Amino acid sequence: GASNGRRSSRRRPRRVLMFPLPFQGHINPMLQLGDVLHARGLAVTVLHTRLNALDAARRHPEFQFVPVLDGVPAHVAASGNVIDIIEAMNAAMEADGAAALRAVLESVVADEARPPAACIIFDANLLAVPRAAEAVGLRTLVLRTASAACLGCFLAYPMLHQKGYLPPQESKLYMPVKELPPLRVRDLFYSSWSNHKKMRELLARANEAMKNSSGLVINTLDALEKAELNRLCEELHIPVVLAPGPLHKLSSKCTRSSTPDQDYSCIEWLDKQPSESVLYVSFGSLASLDAKDFLEVAWGLANSGHPFLWVVRADSVRGFLDGPDIPNGFEAAVRGRGKVIRWAPQQEVLAHPAVGGFWTHSGWNSTLESISDGVPMICRPQFADQMMNTRYVVNTWGVGLELEGELERGKIEKAVRKLMKDRQGEEMRERAKELKKNVADCLKAGGTSQVAIDKLVDYILSM
Ligand code: UDP
Repeated sequence: GASNGRRSSRRRPRRVLMFPLPFQGHINPMLQLGDVLHARGLAVTVLHTRLNALDAARRHPEFQFVPVLDGVPAHVAASGNVIDIIEAMNAAMEADGAAALRAVLESVVADEARPPAACIIFDANLLAVPRAAEAVGLRTLVLRTASAACLGCFLAYPMLHQKGYLPPQESKLYMPVKELPPLRVRDLFYSSWSNHKKMRELLARANEAMKNSSGLVINTLDALEKAELNRLCEELHIPVVLAPGPLHKLSSKCTRSSTPDQDYSCIEWLDKQPSESVLYVSFGSLASLDAKDFLEVAWGLANSGHPFLWVVRADSVRGFLDGPDIPNGFEAAVRGRGKVIRWAPQQEVLAHPAVGGFWTHSGWNSTLESISDGVPMICRPQFADQMMNTRYVVNTWGVGLELEGELERGKIEKAVRKLMKDRQGEEMRERAKELKKNVADCLKAGGTSQVAIDKLVDYILSM
């Protein structure tokens, strides 16, 4: 607000450095936070890797962008295995006492043409940052781009193993984890055996980096996770823990996403559809289907009789590098009623009045975006925090249903009807609209999200 503008301009201008983990779901919230801080008078320098290099530079002429060598070999990058990619990146960046990163930070900090750097806001998975930052005298703040519940689960990881909840046993999947309500064993964050050991190590070190930081910012909000946030505050002894989410709604200019090829023709198409009639279908930036499941989804959507907008990325289906083959007869069956695109301007799509439901993989960004616009969901989680997000959507907030078990066209058709047509879906839609109002209240002047940003700005200026 105006008072903040006056307050900050009286103090000397400051700069924040930001270093996001180079994946869509992590980059977007970091840049959105950058927008918010910039609007409050702070200068922003974004460090970025060559991997998934940011196209965002074009859309953010007001930020400075500085490349950092990530050292991820091409074959690891191409594997798409997130844990392996992060491991390779950390190994390279931590080499020689994080010398290369330290050199980058040194030159960034020494730049006298820009306001003095107050701190670096980073993703805790980037393990080299604390050491490099300390060497150049920079304080660190951590941005968490998943839910507070997810962070609670990470912190509880050793306990979850000690008490035998993890590794998950087939016979106990539906057992409640009484220390982390409302989660059950199947909702816990877990990755396959092959890289579980790496994951556990990464989690432990990322937790450490977070605990040693000067502050924690989580892209969530009181209206959704008050109890979880309270638990975190009790457990962590970090100077500040702030929840200014949903960041995409706070950021004055829509950051959208950092990939270039959004297909805006879908907005014109949506303009022609009846209100709340369209099911938007997207599984985020990483999740993929096998060819058989892809067919089931295609025919489930076709047979449902409902209008749909479906995002099929070029790498959506395993085994196809340049997009899967659309099955014979599909286009004719859905003509005028179904649209398939490569990448959507998702925030605009979810805000469009024609959209009445979202079939999602339940990534945290997608979940927050859907809730902020009052859109109920069909959840089809695959990995990482997607199962626990689904649990909250279905059980705690009551704004969606889970499509469980094998993907099969008849089941898909039923789920779509349930959400888009039946009374049960109507009730979820009502609750989603209520939740949307609560989110909007947090975003208003004096609301919890705005207050969190005020505190963050004051804190940064005090550094
Ligand atoms: N997204 C988009 N267009 C698409 C699909 C996804 O802009 O067609 C954006 C979406 O708005 C969200 C992000 O990509 O901000 C996906 O993040 P999320 O946490 O939901 O899932 P992830 O991709 O990390 O699995």
